[in-house]
Amino acid sequence: MTNVEEVHLPTLQALQEYNLGDRLHTVFTQAESNDNLVFTKQDPTKIKIINDADHNMTIQVKEVPGLGKRPMNRPTVPGTNERVTDDKVEQVKKNNPFVKPEPELTLVSDLCGSYRLILNKFPNTEHHFLMVTKQFEQQDTLLRPLELQLMRSILSKLNNHVGVDATGDPFKKDRYFAFFNSGPESGYSQFHKHVQFMKLPADFPLYQDRVVSNADYFIPNELKSDKRPLFNKDAGFKHFILKMPTVGKEVKDTEEERESLAILYMYLVKRVLNIFRELDVEFSKISYNFIMTDTWMMIVPRKAAHYQGVWQNSLGYMGLFGGKNEEVLKKYNDLGYIEVLKGCGFEQEEDEDKVVYNEYGY
Ligand code: AMP
Repeated sequence: MTNVEEVHLPTLQALQEYNLGDRLHTVFTQAESNDNLVFTKQDPTKIKIINDADHNMTIQVKEVPGLGKRPMNRPTVPGTNERVTDDKVEQVKKNNPFVKPEPELTLVSDLCGSYRLILNKFPNTEHHFLMVTKQFEQQDTLLRPLELQLMRSILSKLNNHVGVDATGDPFKKDRYFAFFNSGPESGYSQFHKHVQFMKLPADFPLYQDRVVSNADYFIPNELKSDKRPLFNKDAGFKHFILKMPTVGKEVKDTEEERESLAILYMYLVKRVLNIFRELDVEFSKISYNFIMTDTWMMIVPRKAAHYQGVWQNSLGYMGLFGGKNEEVLKKYNDLGYIEVLKGCGFEQEEDEDKVVYNEYGY
């Protein structure tokens, strides 16, 4: 059965007024029952939660068989010195699943003129979806201010959504986050520009929430030690977190919000550039994972898409580890979860809190 209804949300206001939570639930349920998704519901008893006190981080480990089935459509193989050539980009465009997404997976056909919202065909968890550009754009381009604002608006819509189930009982409120894997070593599988949205496991503590819990919103300034991005000093891998402003409090309206989000994001991207330059890593390899929740944004510089054969994207840096089979899960366990994150990212310095990056020195 095809989901014929098309949803068009031409403005940010239209998105804010739309019941995206109900739409997501309806389209996902329909796609799942019609076998339009490659999704295996996890047996909750097989999902492992680890409280890693040494790294001050909670970890979830589960098997996601769909990971072994999703297609790879990117111009270069990570870990090589391959260049993105026009020919390779043309090839990617031919196999591109996001230019004409399946109608059964489409949540919103038009968002602010340039975007679509579609279900992830190989979801990591239920209701996993993507924001994709309508026209082909490379994944290795920066997020635009509007894209950042759409991410935040979608998150706040979904996080404030209370739906009802078939019996009329309200759903438990979910908490979503958004992530963007950018650069050849960030762990992406598709080269067409996309941001992903996923819900957190219920009652899952995030180290980032703890890190920002006592902080006020501020515009970062490298020269002031109390105005540098925040991080979990026990995590072992470099990452940088900034609290976002609230409309009506630190910023007056959505226009100011958009400008602030862009300033914060560009500051974090600049950090990634600093690290690549200071550690003398080839600039063509510039890669990072960018993650946003309703209250903060975080960047993780990435030097490798995999470590000892284990693939990693943004999710591990949220503490969420998925493996396509038991063998991969065993490998994670044998290598150590944090070791994989350090191996794919950059290790923190012993005095990371004292490091001052030369932000203008290129
Ligand atoms: P990434 O691996 O970060 O590049 O994210 C791309 C996502 O697109 C993956 O999680 C895939 O599961 C998903 N994907 C691949 N093919 C399709 C498709 N035809 N429709 C929707 N999502 C897809």
